[in-house]
Parts: sequence; C-alpha cells; structure tokens
Amino acid sequence: KISLVWLRQDLRLSDNPALLEAVKSDQVYIVYILDDENAGSNKMGAASRWRLHQSLAVLERKLGGNLNLYKGAAEKIIPEIIAQNGITDIHWNRCYEPWRIKRDRHIKATLIEAQVFVHSHNASLLWEPWEVLKKDGTPYRVFTPFYKNGCLANFQPRSPHPAPKHIPAQKDRTSISLQKLDLIKGYPWFEKLNNHWPIGEEAALERSKEFLKSDIKNYKIDRNFPYKTNSSYLSPNLHFGEISPHQLWELTELASRENDNEWVSKSSDINHFKNELGWREFSYYLNYHFADMQKQNFNKKYDEFSWDYEETHYAAWCHGKTGIPIVDAAQRQLWQTGLMHNRLRMISASFLVKNLLIDWRRGERWFWDCLLDADSASNGASWQWVAGCGADAAPYFRVFNPVLQSKKFDPDGTFLKKYVPELCRLPLKYLYEPWEAPEEILSAAGIELGKTYPKPIVNLKTSREAALAQYKLLTGKL
Ligand code: FAD
Repeated sequence: KISLVWLRQDLRLSDNPALLEAVKSDQVYIVYILDDENAGSNKMGAASRWRLHQSLAVLERKLGGNLNLYKGAAEKIIPEIIAQNGITDIHWNRCYEPWRIKRDRHIKATLIEAQVFVHSHNASLLWEPWEVLKKDGTPYRVFTPFYKNGCLANFQPRSPHPAPKHIPAQKDRTSISLQKLDLIKGYPWFEKLNNHWPIGEEAALERSKEFLKSDIKNYKIDRNFPYKTNSSYLSPNLHFGEISPHQLWELTELASRENDNEWVSKSSDINHFKNELGWREFSYYLNYHFADMQKQNFNKKYDEFSWDYEETHYAAWCHGKTGIPIVDAAQRQLWQTGLMHNRLRMISASFLVKNLLIDWRRGERWFWDCLLDADSASNGASWQWVAGCGADAAPYFRVFNPVLQSKKFDPDGTFLKKYVPELCRLPLKYLYEPWEAPEEILSAAGIELGKTYPKPIVNLKTSREAALAQYKLLTGKL
C-alpha cells in the first residue's frame, strides 16, 4: 500500500490523524499544495504567505527534506502525483471553509471513481459542525447555547494522538522547492517579523505550556490590556495547525489539575481561555452552516445598509493616521508585528464601521492581508460581530468610544507611547485625545496637529450620531 497525505491547515506531525493512518502504509508521500487557483478571493494575504513559508520551512526540516511541495490547482496536481507514484490511498484532515469543502468534495468524487481510497479525518476542530445541533435538528445561532448545551454538554473532545514513530516518507520527483512557492518574494518588509513569534510545532507546544503555567494568570481580566502579555498569542499556530485545539484543550485540563501553581482565579482563567477556543469553533460553525462569513452578511437585512466610500478615510485607517491615538496605535501594531491585540481589533474595527461608516468587508480585507493569523472564519465572523450584522453580534448601538477604551485599558499610556511615539511628550491627560490639548501644551510637547500628528479625520461624537442614525434606519427591519 502506498499513501499520500495532503497537508493543509495541519502543519504538524503530532496529533495528525491523517498522517498517523497514512504511515501504516509501506510508503508515504507527504504533500502541501499552494492552491491559489481554487482559493480565488480567499487567496492568502501577504502576512499569511510569509508565515506559511516559515511554517513549511520548519516542517521540511523535521521531515529531513521529505516534504513534497507544489503550486496550482489541487484537482490537477493530486491525480498526477497519484498516477506517477502508484498511490492507492489518500488521507487528509478536514477543512471547513466553503471554498475548500467544494474543492475537496470534487476531488474526493473524482478519486473514488478512479478507485483510489479516500480517507478524511478530524484534526482542526474540537466539535464537528454537523454534530452540534439544537434539539429540533437546526444549527445554533447564539454562542453560549452552542458552546454550553451543544458542545460541552454532549461531547468531550478526544485526546490528542501521538506523532508517528516511523515515517516511510518518499520524495516525488515533480515536487518543487520552498523558494519556488514564491511565498515571500516581493515582500521585503517581512524581515521585521522575524523572531517575533513562535513558529512550528515544537515552538507552539512550548509557548502553550509557558502560557498555561504562568501568563494565563488573571487572563480573564488582563487579556483586555494591550500592553500586557496575558493572552496566548497562539492564533497563527492554531490557524496553520502547528498545534491542534485537541492538544491545547488537553493541556488546559492538565493545567487545571496541577496544584503547584495556584492562584485565586485559576479555574475561571482557564475556563475563560477554553471559552475563547469555543469562539474559534463557533466561527467555523457559522461559516459551515450559514454563509461565507468573509463575504456575506449573516443578517441579510444588512445587505441594504448604505456604506460610505471615503477613500482618504480608509487609507488613513489602514496606515494608522486617523488622528485617534488608540486606533493609530492598533493599526501600527498590526503593520509592525503582523498581529493586533484582541481588544484593539474590536476598537479599530468599530471605528472603521461605526465612525467612518466603511463597509466591514473593506476592513476584513486589510486584516486579511496584514494578519499572521488571518483566518477566513474567525476574521469574517469577528468583523460581522463588531459591525452588528453577525450571529450573536454586538448590538448596533454599541459603538466603542476609542478615548474611553484607551483610558481604561491603557491607563498609563504605555501602549500608546510605544506605537505613537510622536505623542509621548504629551501629559497623560491629553495623550488619549490630543485635539483637546491647549496650543501651548502641544507646542511644549513638540506637536503640531496636522503636521507632526494628524488632526482627527472625523469628530467622534458627530460621526457616532450619524452612524447611529443610519443604523436606526434599518432597525425597523432588523
Ligand atoms: P487568546 O486570548 O490566547 O485565545 C486563544 C485562541 O482562541 C486564539 O488563539 C484564537 O484561536 C481563539 N480566539 C480567541 N478569541 C477569538 C474570537 N473572538 N474569535 C475566534 N477565535 C478566537 N482571530 C483569528 O484567529 N484570526 C483572525 O483573522 C481574526 N480576526 C479578527 C478580527 C476582528 C475584527 C476581531 C475583533 C477579532 C479577530 N480575531 C481573529 C479574534 C481574536 O482577536 C484573535 O483570535 C486573538 O486576538 C488572538 O490572540 P491570542 O492567540 O493571544 O488569543
């Protein structure tokens, strides 16, 4: 028996059921295909491509070079590899985005017809979307009942599988080099991202253990403060499958049983972290059951919303030049590090949608290009949550006030000063809203609004009111 393992968002050797089954064969071809052709507008953004390159490099080293790489439409490449190498069985771990499901179904049908044994496995989600349904057989639309009644009450996540002891990996002569995938060509800015984040399965496991041992302390509260390091920063690792949610879940169970590192809020911190993993599951669930969350309003009534198309506002938002310090700091963090803290994602997205009245899909696109953890399910569902058109979304009248948010979650201005250094000489009182500072204070701090730092591109109060009026127009129908 000769098997092919088609890796996609599972770039790891441990807890990889497709690989574990395939290595029972005499020979195994481990394959990754950069399939931009099927992805269409879901084609990975620049930051994700850089991140993928790093992840594949680590995996290739682990496999002693026996990772086969290709570029093109999977439905053309896979049958060729199969024919060339006399492959009898193919294994993959399931993906859940609509475009991948469509492609995989097509490939499965073609291969079965060609008498190849096709095996798909679960590796990326704790709960299969089709298993979690309400009593009446329909899918959940609200997070808490989904998570508590649908998932936790009915299914205990399985234990992770070990890595295979022996991998009879083969090199296919038509595979290309990692460089030829061209994942980082043309993006010289990627160098700034080097060494920022843990890459590969060992690094992901190490970070998970470190996080669950110490950084998770006070997670429930401190995860809201962008200058603290109390969240896991594992989202890119989870997205590329360098660690599975099952591994992470088991580590949380172990951490909650350990007695040597007690703190008052331990179980509530760990449960809150599990809850966040639950949100990841919910995003995939919505994407699977309802709509392509990256593109289509979950709440169809929002199709009638009249968005604004002020290009200068969009450009200012993208590049951290809105004149609203916390929004600028957030956007610059994204540009400089490839990630943005969760609270800042909410503040910055709310500003784009509810102060600038720009379609959430344009914000989604910018994040898609810049985020190392860009994930069509989580990004789409989260943008829709902020915009108010998603499942279980923030109500339309909830508009984050960026000034109050930054005072609350960055009380010493540490984060603002780091990413908006041109304001660092301002007294704290004015740091969050420099337009309120008297001229002499601005000039003593070396600031000239409109020159050294932008004037706010909109008035926060009037733009909020205008947005609410727009949203209210829809409320009769929402
Ligand atoms: P932790 O707090 O350590 O959480 C652990 C894991 O749970 C994360 O790694 C992530 O996989 C998952 N998670 C946490 N919060 C959420 C959430 N709200 N929705 C879905 N999964 C969650 N997350 C992405 O992974 N990819 C995206 O493209 C993405 N885009 C977002 C866009 C917007 C506008 C917003 C508001 C949120 C977005 N998120 C996205 C969710 C969240 O911001 C990130 O998952 C989180 O910041 C990652 O940091 P962490 O790994 O330290 O999270």
